[in-house]
Amino acid sequence: MKSNFLTHQRSAFKKKLKKGVDVLIIGGGINGAGIARDAAMRGFKTGLLEKNDFASGSSSRSSKLIHGGIRYLEHMDFSLVMESCAERALLLKLAPELVKPVEFLMPVYKSDRYGMSLMNIGMWLYDFLSFFRNYKLHKKLSAQSILQYMPKINPKGLKGGFIYYDSLVNDSRLVINNIVSAHNNRASLLNYCEVVRFQKARGKISGVFAVDRLSKDEFYVPCKTIVSAAGPWTNSLYLKIEGVQRELLCLTKGIHLVFPREKIHTKTAVVIISNNDKRIVFVIPWKEYTLVGTTDTDFNDDVDNVYSKKEDVLYLLDMVNRKFCGLFLKPEDAISCYAGLRPLLISQKDSNAVSRKDKILRSPSKIFIVGGGKLTTYRKISEKAVNMIAEELCGGYRPCQTKKVPLMEKIKSQESDRFNINKDVKKYLQRRYGNGYIKLIQIIKKKSEMAEKIYENLPFIFAEIEYGAINELLVHIKDFFRLRTEIFLKAQDNGLLMLDKCAGILGENLGLEQKEINTQIKEYKQFVHNSLNCLRR
Ligand SMILES: Cc1cc2nc3c(=O)[nH]c(=O)nc-3n(C[C@H](O)[C@H](O)[C@H](O)COP(=O)(O)OP(=O)(O)OC[C@H]3O[C@@H](n4cnc5c(N)ncnc54)[C@H](O)[C@@H]3O)c2cc1C
Repeated sequence: MKSNFLTHQRSAFKKKLKKGVDVLIIGGGINGAGIARDAAMRGFKTGLLEKNDFASGSSSRSSKLIHGGIRYLEHMDFSLVMESCAERALLLKLAPELVKPVEFLMPVYKSDRYGMSLMNIGMWLYDFLSFFRNYKLHKKLSAQSILQYMPKINPKGLKGGFIYYDSLVNDSRLVINNIVSAHNNRASLLNYCEVVRFQKARGKISGVFAVDRLSKDEFYVPCKTIVSAAGPWTNSLYLKIEGVQRELLCLTKGIHLVFPREKIHTKTAVVIISNNDKRIVFVIPWKEYTLVGTTDTDFNDDVDNVYSKKEDVLYLLDMVNRKFCGLFLKPEDAISCYAGLRPLLISQKDSNAVSRKDKILRSPSKIFIVGGGKLTTYRKISEKAVNMIAEELCGGYRPCQTKKVPLMEKIKSQESDRFNINKDVKKYLQRRYGNGYIKLIQIIKKKSEMAEKIYENLPFIFAEIEYGAINELLVHIKDFFRLRTEIFLKAQDNGLLMLDKCAGILGENLGLEQKEINTQIKEYKQFVHNSLNCLRR
C-alpha cells in the first residue's frame, strides 16, 4: 500500500502504541470499546486493537435490545435482571440518542407454559426489580383488547396478555461512539490490526505483536496489563496466549430478518413463544422496517464466517406466520438478514435454559479475559474490568466516570443552528454524531453535494463517508454500509446500486488507488451474496 491519508493516519496511532500503554485491549466490540472508554476516562494510557472493523463481531448482530432480561426471571436470575434494569435506566439517561424505550406486547395462549396469573407475577417482579422506575409500568390486557389493539394476531387459544417496556439501541453505533469517546480521552485505537503473538517476561505477558492487515506490517506494543475482549474468538485467543487449549466459551448462532414495515406491521414489539421448543422470537418495529429474531443453535464452525442458513430463515418465518393471521411471509420478502454468535460462558451450555452472566477471568499469564455478557451490561462489566486493572496497577487513577458522563458530546457551537440543511437530515446527523455534527457541516460547506442523501428513503448522506474516513477510522466501504450506517440492512438493493459511487468517495478521501477501490467493491458484493443467499429461492 502506497503512502496516503490512510497510512499517515494509522502510523500516527501506531507510533503512540509502540511507545507502550498501561492497558491494551484486544477486541473492538462493545466490551472492548466500553473498557477502552472507561480506562481512558480514568487517566490510563489506553490502547485497543481490533482485527476487523470496530463492532464487526457479535456487537453489530444483536436483537438491538437494551433489556432487563424478562425471561431470566424463569431461572430466578434476580441479580442479573436487577443489574440489567439498572444499566438500562443508565443508558436511557446517558445515551438517549442511541437508546429509546420500546413497548412490547406479550400475548398469552392456552398452550403456553405459564398462564396469565404466573405471567402477572413475573411482570410485577420485572417492574419491582427496576424499582418501579422503568419508562412505564406493565399493563394487563384481556384477549379482547389485544385483538382490538392488534387485530391480526392469531386469536386461537388467546387468553390475554401484557404490555411491558424495554429499550431499543443502535448496537454498532453504541460501539463506535464508545470508541470515539475513548479516542477523545486520548486512547489509541486501531481497527484492522490483529494481535497474533504475545511476549512473556517472568511468566507474565509484557506485550503483544500485532499485524496491520492493511499495510501487512507487524508491530510490537509493550503493555502493563492486557484485557481480552475477543467475544466469540476468546477460545482461540486463549490458545495463543497460554499455548494450551481451554474452552472458556461455547457459541450459539442467532439470526435476524429485516422486512419492510408493510410486510409485517405491528403497533408494538411482539413476543412470540414457539409451541414446539418454547423459544422466544421478537417482532420489533424498527422505523419503516420490522426486525424479526432470533434463532439459537449450537455453533462449531468457522467463527470468521457466520451467515444465516435457509433452515434458520424458515424457522423464523414459520413462527411469525403462525402467530399472525393472513401473513404468508416468504424468505424473499425480507430485505436482508444477519447472523451472529453469542459468546456464552461454558457453564451456560444450554443457552436457552440459563442466563447470560458475564465474568472476568485471570489467565495464568495474568491477562484479564472478559467472558459472556450482553450489550445491555457492557458498561458495568467495563467498570468491573477497569477496577481490577486499577487494583493491579496500584491506584492513583480517577474513579469510574461512565456512570455519570453522557456517552456523546453535546453540540458545542451555535454556528450549526444557522446552517441551512434539510430538517430531518439535521436531526438525524445530530442524534448520530453529537458534536461531530459540526465537522459534518464543515464538509458540506466545502462541497454542498455531500449533503445529498444516498437513498431518498433513508437518512444517510454522502458527507458521512468523508466524516467516517477522517474521524472514525473508516477504511472499507463494506463497513460504511454494514456498520457505520444501516444501508446494507435497509436499502432495497442493500447498497449495491450506490456501491461504486460511495466506494469512489471513500477511496478519494483515503487516497486509495483504483485497484484497491475495486477490491473493496468486489469484497462487498461477495459479502452481500454470502449474507443473502439464504433468502433466494
Ligand atoms: C443473535 C444475538 C442477539 C443478541 N441480542 C442481544 C440483545 O438484544 N441485547 C443484548 O444486550 N445483547 C444481545 N446479544 C449479546 C451481545 O451481542 C454480545 O454479548 C456482545 O455483543 C458481545 O460483545 P463482545 O465485545 O464481547 O464481542 P464482539 O462484539 O464479538 O467483539 C469481539 C471483537 O474481538 C475482535 N478480535 C478477536 N480476536 C482478535 C485478535 N486476535 N486481535 C484483535 N481483535 C480481535 C473481533 O474481531 C471482534 O470484533 C445478542 C447476541 C447475539 C448473537
